Amino acid sequence: MSKIAADPTHPRYQSLLMRHRLEVAEQKGLLAGSALIAHGRGEAFDYLIGEQTIPSALQATRQALAYLSAAKRPVISLNGNVVALAGKEILTLAHHLRCPVEVNIFYRTPERMEALLSHLEEIKQHEQLDVTILGAEPDARIPGLEGPRANCVREGIFESDVILVPLEDGDRCEALVAMGKTVIVIDLNPLSRTAQMATVTIVDELTRVVNNMNNLFESIGQTSLSHTYDNQDIVQQALDHILSFFAS
Ligand code: ATP
Repeated sequence: MSKIAADPTHPRYQSLLMRHRLEVAEQKGLLAGSALIAHGRGEAFDYLIGEQTIPSALQATRQALAYLSAAKRPVISLNGNVVALAGKEILTLAHHLRCPVEVNIFYRTPERMEALLSHLEEIKQHEQLDVTILGAEPDARIPGLEGPRANCVREGIFESDVILVPLEDGDRCEALVAMGKTVIVIDLNPLSRTAQMATVTIVDELTRVVNNMNNLFESIGQTSLSHTYDNQDIVQQALDHILSFFAS
């Protein structure tokens, strides 16, 4: 790691740490060609949000955890950036929730799938986590999507009732909602199609969200569903927060 990234007192420490994780993942063949561009878009929004969890994001996080805890068949969908940035933390969350994870990537090649699955398997063994890792053998398709990105696993994404899809693409989010699922997304851009379409939108940085979820789980066990939760309002609050950055 570079000197700057290794120094926790550096003002951009977290950001540099995330970049470093992506560099390492790139070398291991975990990432798609566009991974760094997607991350850059996220960084820009995180800067405007103040690199912090804003109150509306925490509210969405609590609602998400409540949905996941109460689900009959919860699942967490993982892509390359998620595995690179928060592989250990997300497997810990799955362990807490007793739910499977499914590697489901947009640009699917056998080499990348193999690299992602074995990286997760290594973390699982090292941390001694009890989690089923799916994705090696897709046997179902998400209706309404073309080509290989529709592929998924029947006992994972296909039959899930509640799905956490951090950093999802707008089309797939829409297709999952159309299947009748409760779709929870993590996306720093409140204007993205994904953010607008999901059941619960957490406008916050991935690693902060997963750490918040694990902390909530470890401190209070479960959160309860709010019946007054309004996702459109939550997304609007994030947007208002960003607009206040320009007004200040
Ligand atoms: P959409 O298809 O939903 O309109 P998009 O084309 O902008 O979205 P992608 O390029 O598929 O989206 O994915 C990148 C998205 O993920 C961006 O919206 C970006 O803000 C967000 N993002 C990137 N890194 C992170 C991160 N670490 N935490 C949270 N969100 C992130």
